[in-house]
Amino acid sequence: MVNCSRGEAASMTLPRELAAVDWGTLDFLGWRDPKAPLRGYLVVWRDGKAVGVQLRAAESKMSGRVAAMCSLCRTGQPASNVSLFVARRTGQAGRNGNTVGTYICADLVCCRNVRLDKPSATLHPDPGLTIDERVERLRTRTDSFIDEVLSTVG
Ligand SMILES: [Zn+2]
Repeated sequence: MVNCSRGEAASMTLPRELAAVDWGTLDFLGWRDPKAPLRGYLVVWRDGKAVGVQLRAAESKMSGRVAAMCSLCRTGQPASNVSLFVARRTGQAGRNGNTVGTYICADLVCCRNVRLDKPSATLHPDPGLTIDERVERLRTRTDSFIDEVLSTVG
């Protein structure tokens, strides 16, 4: 975990299915902390190392009657499925209270969403793109999000 204290990292709850995770179909591992519902985590592999970012979800929820889009997987869905997440930046910027905010699928299942074959009643993955293209774009956007968190400038 790159952007939280050691104490916070120690208190995080790992996903139960961690051992069974199939990295071949995941661009990142994302989950909400069952013991701290507003906390979420996003872990990516970079240069053979796991890089984890702690996220905090906004307490207010958007209305489910309007549509919203996740900024990572670009899946259109009811706004109640999308949450504003804030990640503290690493280093001095983070200690100064500097954060990166973005709208992400509330349950952090973007990797599943981009692999949907056909849109369902409520989930509409980026239309006009193949699954490979969606996966590719999800990876690029996730990367730049992580870059922003890691950035010590600004
Ligand atoms: Zn998403």
